[in-house]
Amino acid sequence: MSEQSATSKVDIAKYKKLLLDMREQLTEEVRALGNASLKSDHEPGAELADVGSDNFTQEVEIKLMAAEETRIRAIDTALSRLGQGTFGICKDCDKPVSEARLLALPFAQLCIACKEQHERRDAGLA
Ligand SMILES: [Zn+2]
Repeated sequence: MSEQSATSKVDIAKYKKLLLDMREQLTEEVRALGNASLKSDHEPGAELADVGSDNFTQEVEIKLMAAEETRIRAIDTALSRLGQGTFGICKDCDKPVSEARLLALPFAQLCIACKEQHERRDAGLA
């Protein structure tokens, strides 16, 4: 691999727009989910079975919200990395992350190889 910096190849404006659009959409979804679970919280006179499924729905919503908030934080990190000129560089191996991956997941901080390694480790296979 060449030692040349990959940052010059990254179209900062393009990714910034992508990240901001994504962030806006997620913020909107979290807000909608928050409203929905607030509503189901105040359902009057629900039967036990209904409460059960209601709790399940709420649990799913809470998990979804947590996942989206995690993603928003990842987007914020990516935006600050854009500012620092470290965007698109793998956090683990310092190699450039492929453009295809960045376009699909602009907040990705790891290249595919490192990501797979992490997943193997998380799954207890490495
Ligand atoms: Zn890597």
